[in-house]
Parts: sequence; C-alpha cells; structure tokens
Amino acid sequence: MKRRGESLENIQANSFDVCVIGGGATGSGCALDSQLRGMTTVLLEGADFASGASSAATKIIHGGVRYLEEAVRRLDPAQYQVVNRALHERIHMLHNGPFLSRPMEFLIPCAGWFSVAYMGFGMKLYEWIAGKDSLFPSRFLSKTKTLERMPGLSPNHLMGSIAYADGQFDDARYNMGLINTFVAASGEALNYARVVGFTKDASGKLQAAEVEDQWTNRRFTVRAQRFVNATGPAADTIRGLATPGIPTRMRLSKGAHLVLPLEVFPTRDALLIPKTDDGRVLFAVPWFDRLLIGTTEQEVTIHDELYLSKGDVEYLLHHINRYFKTTIRAEQIVSGFAGARPLVSAAGSHDTKNLARDHEVEVDARSGLISIMGGKWTTHRAMAEDAINAVQKSLGRAATPGVTLDHPLSGSSGYTPEYWQSLVRDYKLPEQTAGHLSQKFGANATKVLQLAKEDPALAAPIVTGFAPLRAEIAYCARNEMAITIEDVLMRRTGLQFYSWRAAISAAAPTAAILAKELGWSPEFERSSAEEYRRKITRLIELAGLSAEQLAAADSN
Ligand SMILES: Cc1cc2nc3c(=O)[nH]c(=O)nc-3n(C[C@H](O)[C@H](O)[C@H](O)COP(=O)(O)OP(=O)(O)OC[C@H]3O[C@@H](n4cnc5c(N)ncnc54)[C@H](O)[C@@H]3O)c2cc1C
Repeated sequence: MKRRGESLENIQANSFDVCVIGGGATGSGCALDSQLRGMTTVLLEGADFASGASSAATKIIHGGVRYLEEAVRRLDPAQYQVVNRALHERIHMLHNGPFLSRPMEFLIPCAGWFSVAYMGFGMKLYEWIAGKDSLFPSRFLSKTKTLERMPGLSPNHLMGSIAYADGQFDDARYNMGLINTFVAASGEALNYARVVGFTKDASGKLQAAEVEDQWTNRRFTVRAQRFVNATGPAADTIRGLATPGIPTRMRLSKGAHLVLPLEVFPTRDALLIPKTDDGRVLFAVPWFDRLLIGTTEQEVTIHDELYLSKGDVEYLLHHINRYFKTTIRAEQIVSGFAGARPLVSAAGSHDTKNLARDHEVEVDARSGLISIMGGKWTTHRAMAEDAINAVQKSLGRAATPGVTLDHPLSGSSGYTPEYWQSLVRDYKLPEQTAGHLSQKFGANATKVLQLAKEDPALAAPIVTGFAPLRAEIAYCARNEMAITIEDVLMRRTGLQFYSWRAAISAAAPTAAILAKELGWSPEFERSSAEEYRRKITRLIELAGLSAEQLAAADSN
C-alpha cells in the first residue's frame, strides 16, 4: 500500500468510476469487487480501516444457529435466506483467507434427551442447507466425551453435547486483507477521510463527495460516477447527507465481549449456549490463547459510545458461569471490546434480537446513492456482489460477473498450515512469534521479518513476553496506512485485543517507531503515548476493573 500522503494526492487528482464510503468488511468487500470488475475505485474510511463493527465481531464464520431456529419456528423466509447465504459464503471466506481463518467445532451442551434430539435435528438441517459446502458432519458426544473436550464445563445437568462445524477468523486482519488485496489490484484507499457532504449536478445526482481529512482537518472533494454507502451503523447519516429527510432504516444492537486467559476454560472447541434465560445466544470461543465470551445485545443509537461496561461484564459472567465448573471472576478479565451490529429494520420488528441479519441494497432514485445495509461479516462478499451489480446496472453497463468468489487475499499465496515452521527454521524465531506472524500476515510475514533483518532493533517484541514484534509497527506504518498507536495495537497486531495491560506497556515503544516512520515531533510522540494509555485505562475502569487487577490476571 502507498503512504497515506501519496494516496491522498492521487485521490484528489483523479476522478473514479466508483467511490465506496466506509472501510469495514462491507465497504472493503465492495471496493475489491468493483476494482476487480475493472472499474476504477476509491475507498474512503472516516476513521481507521476496520475500526467499526468489523473488528468487534465474535469472529465466527457461520450460518447462524439461532437464525435457523427463528426461520423454522416462525416459518420466516428472511431468516432462512440469511442462513442459506451465509452457509454457502462460509467456505469461500475460509478458502480465500486461509491464514486468517480455520474451521472450528462448536459444542452445544444438552441437559436431556429432548434437547439432544432438538439440537441434533437442527444441526442436521444446518448441514443439509450447506449441502456440498458443509464443513464436517455434526454428531452427538456423550457426557464423557464432552468433558474430555471441555474439562471446564460443569458436569451438572449435562447429558452430552451436539458438536457441529463452523469457521473462525481474525476479523480485523481479514478486513486489512481485503484492503491490501484491493490496493494490490490498483485501487485507492484512504483512512481518516470522513465524508461530510456531497455536491450534486443540476438533476440532483451525486457528483462528488466532500471529505474531511481527520488528521489535518483539511477538506477536499472526491469525484466519482457512483457512490456506494457502506458505512454500516452510520448508513442513515450518509443517506441523509445525500437526500435530507430520507426516512431512517438502521437499527443498532450493541454487542460486547470479554477476553480471558484460555487457562480459565481450556478448550480447542467453541461453546455455544443457544438460549440464555432472556433468549440470547452466548459463545465462549478460544482465540489466540485467550477465551472470548460474548455477546450482549442491547439497542443503541449512533451517538452512543461503545465499550465493555461493568453491566456487560456482570451479564456475561452471570450467564456463562452457570455452565462452567469453576466460577470465573471479573478480576480474571484481560481485555474486552464492543461494537454495534448494523441491522436494517424489517416491518413489524421492534426487538433487535429478532431483526433478520439479511442485507439490502437501496438505490436512491433522487441522488443515485447506492446503500448496502445490514448483513453480517460472513456474508460481506455476497453483499458486495449485490451492491456492485446495482452499481453496474445504474451506470447502464452490462453486468459482468463478480470475480471475488475464489480470489485469494494478499498473503495467501505460498501460505500453508505448516508455513510457520519455515519461519522458525529460516529466521530462528520462537514458535509463538512464528505462529503469530503467519496467522496475522500469512506469506507477507517474511516482508515483516526483512525489516527486522535490516534493523535488529525491530527484531525485539513490542512488549517482552508477547508475540508481536517491533518490525510489525514499521511494516504497518509503511504498508498498511497505520498512523496511530491504536491502529497498530488494536487492528494490525491485535495486542490490544489480547491484553490491555500489554497495550499500556506497548504505548511508548509503538509511539517511538511511529514517530520515526511518520516524522512526529518528540512532543507529539510523548502526548500520543500518554493519550493512548489514558484511553486504555479508561476502558479498564468502564469495565469495572483496575490496572492492578489486570496485572494479577494477565501473567503472560
Ligand atoms: C458484537 C458483534 C458480534 C458480531 N459477530 C459476528 C460474527 O461472529 N460473525 C459474523 O458474520 N458477523 C458478526 N457480526 C456482524 C458483523 O461484524 C457486521 O455485520 C459487519 O462487521 C458490518 O460491517 P460494515 O462494514 O457494514 O460496518 P462497519 O464495520 O461498522 O464499517 C463501517 C465503516 O464506515 C465508516 N464510516 C462511518 N461514517 C463514515 C463517513 N461519514 N465517511 C467515511 N467512513 C465512514 C466507519 O468508520 C466504519 O469503519 C457481529 C457484530 C457485532 C457488533
């Protein structure tokens, strides 16, 4: 990827076929599809790439067990359509980003034979819908087998479990993978470029986007023939900028996760609780030696700040502890995160947990804005295909088929599941570091390691005892448009997801390398590190925890 300044210049100097607004999963998928179909495409992201819902997911590539249940119980074709689409998309997501995703077995604990029969039948149906794209067959596991696989599960009221397959992925890195692949196909992408208005031609059609550079506060215009609104939770804001007064469509549902050391519930499989007392789904999923527990569901607005609250912690622990042999305490949490699911309102539905996760493409006849709304991570590729079909139609061009179905993401070529071993052998890396680099960067890991070879200071870990290397900071500043400490620690290296305590320690070394790469003044370097530490400390406090508790829990 080019440096940000260079991209900014190119974007201002050119006019594009398509301008995609929003650099989450949906927008990045749209930009890639559009560029690969031969249309010159620019992607504008108002904050950092993947900084919205697309890095706050449960990180599961799934059809949606609950949506299937809703589809059957309510005979709801919309819910069925979501499950069907997602189950067929699942396999492509796994194939296109092999280093960022993997199949995973999920266990659903069952208390009696009725629940075994009910869930067993449901998962067979799930498999049947997936058809040839099924991952592996679901089956019943006895109580003994279930406890062998999940020794931390409470044996009380346990008859056994239904095991079924879905996928798991690294959402923030998958999002970066889409952007990197788009840019490698000669697309232009810019982060911290917020669309704040539009200019229109005499007939009212959008001609250019007014963009505010969030880094310099400077405004500029981006010209394109068509504009795709892929801003997820903010879709109504962009729709309103294009056509003031247009009725709103989006409903937002906050979901929060807490992160714990995997030792609290050692498992290689994920746990799915299909229904809590208040009718929600809970997951406990192993994630890079951590355990993610989520998620809550609470309706919010675009103005609400999103974070793991003390209430979320209490809710999640209260429900999950019913299934665990040893009670998990809040003090054991090492980090957490929250995001807002962008749902399109369906007539007659008021409860966000009953809104279909299907997507909708809206072509605004007045302004020509094409909005792609709703959906989920698993269906981002199909959503993008539908949106770009609509773009071609509105341009009056013959529809050309999308080519993203089997288009590998940057870093996939040359990657195999044993790739990490070559890093251990060729670069004398510890296994933990090699595993981390291959799972975050795929075959591009050698480019990161080349920087460490050229400057041995970059070969050290960012924080002693944790896998990410200092070379990743320089690599991401040069190649992935990382320009803040959070860009690096949260979305590029994942250290902030992994440990709030490590993230605080990482602030100063990250700022120092970014300062060198991006030409920051010593004062800016110091204040950036300080501001980032304050931000993480606040997240810890909002979750009802303290830095001292974290230090005790997180003894990596
Ligand atoms: C808690 C939670 C768990 C989830 N778990 C899963 C899961 O396990 N599997 C799954 O398939 N799905 C899951 N989802 C759903 C999935 O994460 C979302 O559907 C998906 O990420 C939405 O992507 P998006 O690109 O539409 O939105 P976002 O990722 O929010 O991206 C929209 C982008 O638009 C940008 N933007 C906003 N306004 C402007 C502007 N004016 N100018 C420029 N840019 C702008 C934002 O900064 C943002 O980056 C989950 C969602 C949540 C919240």
